[in-house]
Amino acid sequence: MKISKMLLAGAAFGVAAGAAFAQDAEDPAVRRAKSEVTEIWEPVPALVATPEGQPPSDAVVLFDGTNLDAWEAAEGGPAEWLVADGALSVARGKGDIRTKEGFCDAQLHIEWRAPPNDQGHNGQDRGNSGVFLQERYEVQVLDSADNPTYVNGQAGSIYKQHPPLVNASRGPAEWQAYDIIFTAPIFAEDGSLRVPGYVTVMQNGVVVQNHAQLQGPTEWIGYPSYKAHDCAPIKLQDHDADVSYRNIWVRPL
Ligand code: MG
Repeated sequence: MKISKMLLAGAAFGVAAGAAFAQDAEDPAVRRAKSEVTEIWEPVPALVATPEGQPPSDAVVLFDGTNLDAWEAAEGGPAEWLVADGALSVARGKGDIRTKEGFCDAQLHIEWRAPPNDQGHNGQDRGNSGVFLQERYEVQVLDSADNPTYVNGQAGSIYKQHPPLVNASRGPAEWQAYDIIFTAPIFAEDGSLRVPGYVTVMQNGVVVQNHAQLQGPTEWIGYPSYKAHDCAPIKLQDHDADVSYRNIWVRPL
């Protein structure tokens, strides 16, 4: 079987090589004209500067280490999380915060740090927070360096929907990064789902979600089901843990 496959492959190569030879013999101007058929020249992609260690030039900076101007409390009113040493930290009990601006398809960069593991907390109680896309779809934040829990609830999971492909977690008190590519769900005029949402996540440069299909909004209890919505803010979760964030920027796509 293997040999006959090889013979077939060899024959196919011979035919292809012969065709290439025949093409080479053509008038160069004719060949160029053929190659131009599949060239695209416009529109020219916009230039984006990517200075080392800084957000791309076309990014919307959501937190640059200095202020909460882009944020508000998810329940309304000003965001009351703590800003110090270039980081934004959960003020436990003050509730979730969200961006004032809403987003649809987007690339999001966000760095986070779970607190030191010296408080005797385990499982979902150790460094829990979360990055909610469109206020509904949670990419879990948790200290998962050495902290067993249900795998669709560990760091890098789409909470209660998709476990991460691998555990790329750094230790507690270490900064980690999520780079997220989000394709928002699309709803029909009657509110029914037309196209589900998709999420790709890199944790510390490692792919942990690869175009994972969202089953609906994140639910702690029960199964998700979509409800139509428009573009919506990015929300960060106050889950009663001292989690910090920094270098947050988004590029609407
Ligand atoms: Mg969470």
